[in-house]
Amino acid sequence: MNDLNVELNKKNKELSESLKEMDSIRNHLKNILESMNMGVVAVDLDGKITVFNNAAQKITSLKSGNVIGKYYKDVYSELIDESSTLLDTLKDCKEYENEEKEIRNTEDLIIPVEYSTSLVKNEHGEVLGAVEMFVDMTEIKKLEEEVQRARTLAALGEMAANVAHEIRNPLGGIGGFAALLERDLEIDDPRRNLVKKIIEGVSRLNRIAANLLFYTRPLEIKFQKQDIIKTVDDVLSLMEVELEQEERNIEIVRDFMPDCKEIRFDPEVFQQVLLNIFKNAADSMEDKGKLTVRVKEKNEGKNLVISVEDNGKGMSLSVQRKLFNPFFTTKPDGTGLGLAIAKKIVDIHKGEIKVKSEEGKGTLFEIKLPV
Ligand code: ADP
Ligand code: MG
Repeated sequence: MNDLNVELNKKNKELSESLKEMDSIRNHLKNILESMNMGVVAVDLDGKITVFNNAAQKITSLKSGNVIGKYYKDVYSELIDESSTLLDTLKDCKEYENEEKEIRNTEDLIIPVEYSTSLVKNEHGEVLGAVEMFVDMTEIKKLEEEVQRARTLAALGEMAANVAHEIRNPLGGIGGFAALLERDLEIDDPRRNLVKKIIEGVSRLNRIAANLLFYTRPLEIKFQKQDIIKTVDDVLSLMEVELEQEERNIEIVRDFMPDCKEIRFDPEVFQQVLLNIFKNAADSMEDKGKLTVRVKEKNEGKNLVISVEDNGKGMSLSVQRKLFNPFFTTKPDGTGLGLAIAKKIVDIHKGEIKVKSEEGKGTLFEIKLPV
């Protein structure tokens, strides 16, 4: 009797240990399933959902508590995904590998996913159900689109540069002949005005061509240690003269740090950055407004920040996002190259350029440069 008891106890202990071990294996597998970033949905032979891991919940924004035990076709076809690939797998043993589809989650967001399905079998080869694994491709799709856009822009840029180069010679000819014509006409000849229009048009085309070439060609930078405040001041004075000539009532406010500030930069090239930003600010204000330009030190003198603020018409978020793209413009006669050029130059100076803007209120551009 005693022996039997001892034997029984021993067996009991063994059994409970093996149960514990199985439990720990099950937990371990569950942890793996829940920590992967791949969505996993499994169904049994009836097509009812038995597994719906964390990633699946995140992608579909469904709660596992609400879907476990429910029919896959009810959960999926009504709520999210019109295709029922997993049920095809179950019914026709058709397995999918790395296919793409879109699912609409409960928050009505369309999510591109890459998925695979397979049958779940036990060790005797009997089918127990089917499983679908899917990965959120939103980020990858976005990157793919960006790469595609960069490629298109590069191709466009190259074409534009060729065109710009080609039109320069005939433009030079037109400008030259128009100047000769102007010289031959009497001072009070009414046709002088027409010739003047031709000359103006040619010089505008020349500017566009020069901008295109400037943007698309590799820049030659000559770094020098020089006072940047003087450069800002000079360009601003140039701007002032131009605004005065155009009889526009724009007040210019200078708020510069008191001492001069020598940093390493290319003054000639950098003038382009300032001029483009000042011009945009003036454009946004039409005939009346205030342009405030500040030059300040930041981060204990490690950076220099030039900020340009206008109280013009500002811009929407969607404009702000495209602002630095070459050829992006909202102006009927714009080239969309001003800020693309500015960014390229600031990048070469290892600086940063940022924008804050509110529609109807105004815009602030900040250029941060290393000192
Ligand atoms: P362009 O001046 O030829 O249009 P830019 O690259 O200089 O090209 O500017 C791109 C666009 O950014 C402008 O068309 C305009 O919509 C917007 N933008 C730039 N600066 C400002 C500003 N200060 N206020 C409002 N909109 C601006
Ligand atoms: Mg511009």
